[in-house]
Amino acid sequence: MADPKGFLKTRERELPARRPVALRLMDWREVYEPGDQNVTRTQAGRCMDCGVPFCHQGCPLGNLIPEWNDLTWRGEGRDAIERLHATNNFPEFTGTLCPAPCESSCVLGINQPAVTIKNIEISIIDQAFQHGWVTPHPPERLTGKTVAVVGSGPAGLAAAQQLTRAGHTVAVYEREDRIGGLLRYGIPDFKMEKKRLEQRLAQMQAEGTRFRAGVAIGRDISWSDLRARYDAVVVATGATVPRDLPIPGRDLLGVQFAMDYLVQQNKVGAGDQVADQITAEGKHVVVIGGGDTGADCIGTAHRQGALSVTNLAIGKQPPSERPEHQPWPTTPNLFEITSAHEEGGERVFLASTVEFLANEAGEVRALRVAETEYVDGRRVPKAGTEREIPADLVLIAMGFTGAERDALEDQLRMPFDDRGNVARDADYATSEAGVFVAGDAGRGQSLIVWAIAEGRAAAAAVDRYLEGTTVLPAPVRATDRALTA
Ligand SMILES: Cc1cc2nc3c(=O)[nH]c(=O)nc-3n(C[C@H](O)[C@H](O)[C@H](O)COP(=O)(O)OP(=O)(O)OC[C@H]3O[C@@H](n4cnc5c(N)ncnc54)[C@H](O)[C@@H]3O)c2cc1C
Ligand code: SF4
Repeated sequence: MADPKGFLKTRERELPARRPVALRLMDWREVYEPGDQNVTRTQAGRCMDCGVPFCHQGCPLGNLIPEWNDLTWRGEGRDAIERLHATNNFPEFTGTLCPAPCESSCVLGINQPAVTIKNIEISIIDQAFQHGWVTPHPPERLTGKTVAVVGSGPAGLAAAQQLTRAGHTVAVYEREDRIGGLLRYGIPDFKMEKKRLEQRLAQMQAEGTRFRAGVAIGRDISWSDLRARYDAVVVATGATVPRDLPIPGRDLLGVQFAMDYLVQQNKVGAGDQVADQITAEGKHVVVIGGGDTGADCIGTAHRQGALSVTNLAIGKQPPSERPEHQPWPTTPNLFEITSAHEEGGERVFLASTVEFLANEAGEVRALRVAETEYVDGRRVPKAGTEREIPADLVLIAMGFTGAERDALEDQLRMPFDDRGNVARDADYATSEAGVFVAGDAGRGQSLIVWAIAEGRAAAAAVDRYLEGTTVLPAPVRATDRALTA
C-alpha cells in the first residue's frame, strides 16, 4: 500500500496548473504546465489500496490503479509503467484526454476529493518516455496469419498492437493521409499534442505493424477484396456520421459541421496548406452542442481570433455537485468547465435553435433561438421567447448518429443495429466470418478509454478465431456499458 496515512495527511487534490489563458491562446500547445514529481508522489500516497478498489470498476481497461499508485509513491517509475502498460496500450492518450470515470468511482471520493488517478497516469508514461523505458516489443515468432485493421483511431491502434505482438502480420488501413483517427484529425493540439501520437506510432512501427494511410476501404479496395486477402479483418472505422440540424437556413454559407472545421485546423497545425480554410478569425461564432466536440470548437475559435463565441445547449445546465440520483460510484453528469470554457465565450443552456438567418449574400448572419420547454418529456422551443444571436460562423457539434454504412452494406451485406452501429455479438464478431468490429463503429460515439479496451478485447477474439486459443486479455465485452447513473 502507498502511504498508510497518506489520505489523512493530504486531504486535498493538487494538480498541475493550466498555463495562463492569455498566454495559451497565443499557441496550440497543451494547456497544462509540466507536473511536479514530488507533488505527484504525495498525491499517489493518498491511495488507500482498497480491499475492493472501485476505481477498477470505473475503468473499462481495468487499470491496476492501486498498484501503480503505490509504485509511484515509492518512486519506482519503471515498475509503474510496466503495471500501467499491462492493461493500457496508450496511457498517454487516456492520461491527457480521458474524463476519468475511475476518479468518479474512487472510494476516497465518498468523503474526500478522489485520488488524482489520471494525473498520476500521465506522469508515469511521461517519465517512461523521457527515460527511454518505452521500447518496442516485437513478437518472438510469427504465426503466418494476416490481419487487416481498418481505421487508425485508438480502437484500431490497440487491436493492431495486440495482434502484432501476438505474432500476426497486421496492416492498418486509414483513408486519411495520416494515421491516428480522431486523435489526429479531431482532437485539437491544445488537448493533446501530436508528438504523443508520433512517439507511440514509432514504437508500433518498430514492432512490425504496417501502416497504409490514404487508402479508403470500400473505395480504393472493396471490403470483399480485403476480406479475401486477409485471414481476418477488424472494422474500427469510428462513428463518423454527424447529427444534423434540419431547420430553415441550414444550407446557408457559414453553417458547418464541427468536424469539417476541426479537421482543417488539425491539418494546418501539421503544416498543410488548406485552401479556403473555415476559420473563426474576426467572426461571431455560435457552437451548437455542449459535448467534447463543442468544447474543442470553442478552444479552436478563440485561438483563431473569433470576435465572440457562444455555445448553445438545448438541455438544462447540469448540477455542479453529484446529485442524489447519481450516487457514488456512478459517473455523474456534472457541469464541467473544461480548459476551453475557461478561455472565454458565453454558455447558454435551455437554448432551442429555430432558424438560421441570412444576409443578402446568402451567408448566415444570425441564429434565431428560443428557450427550451419540456412538453411530455420532449424539448420544444417555447413560444414568445425567441431572440437573435449574431453569427458569421455556426458550428454544428450535436454528436454522431453512427458508422458509415453504404460500402459495408453493399460489399459485405453487413447488418447494422437500430442505433446505427455495425451489428456484432458480445465477442465483437459480425455476421461475416472472420470480420470483427471494435470501437465507436460498434459501440457508437464513446470515449478513447472504451476504444482502447474494445481494441484489446477484439484482438483477443481475432487471435482465438485464428489460433483456436488466446492469451490476450479481453477487458470488456461488446455488450458492457459504462458505470453511469
Ligand atoms: C472532436 C472530438 C473530441 C473528442 N474528445 C474526446 C476526449 O477528450 N476524450 C475522450 O475520451 N474521447 C473524446 N472523443 C471521442 C473519441 O475520440 C472517440 O470515442 C474515439 O476516437 C473512437 O475511436 P475509434 O478508433 O473507434 O474511431 P476513430 O478515432 O473515429 O477512428 C476511426 C478512423 O477510421 C477511419 N476510417 C473510416 N472509414 C474508413 C474506411 N472505409 N477506410 C479506411 N479508414 C476509414 C477514419 O478516417 C478514422 O481515422 C472525442 C470525439 C470527437 C469527435
Ligand atoms: S478506489 Fe481510490 S483509494 Fe481505492 S484503490 Fe482505487 S484509487 Fe486507491
